[in-house]
Amino acid sequence: MVIRMRHTRAHTANRRSHHALKAPTLATCSNCGAQHRPHHMCLDCGFYKGRQVVDMTAKKQAREARLQAKREMREAQEGIFQPEEEATQAVEAETKEENKEESK
Ligand SMILES: [Zn+2]
Repeated sequence: MVIRMRHTRAHTANRRSHHALKAPTLATCSNCGAQHRPHHMCLDCGFYKGRQVVDMTAKKQAREARLQAKREMREAQEGIFQPEEEATQAVEAETKEENKEESK
């Protein structure tokens, strides 16, 4: 840094006096009592201004179904990969037996 660009400690501190983070302001839901952002839908029950905007129970069920499908797909893929693992284990067992025979 060139000395001409240098700020005093006071100048730097004055600039940084506005850098503090503020806690977000939250409102309580009139339907379920959970905390939510003001002027935003409640993420727990899907209510806004006293009426249902989004059916959150249906959304949660859809999400669960999606995750379950993903889990089942992963399990199916693991079932495909298992024979390969068994094959490598069999090869390792064979090599160990060969080593034993050589040591004898
Ligand atoms: Zn709510």
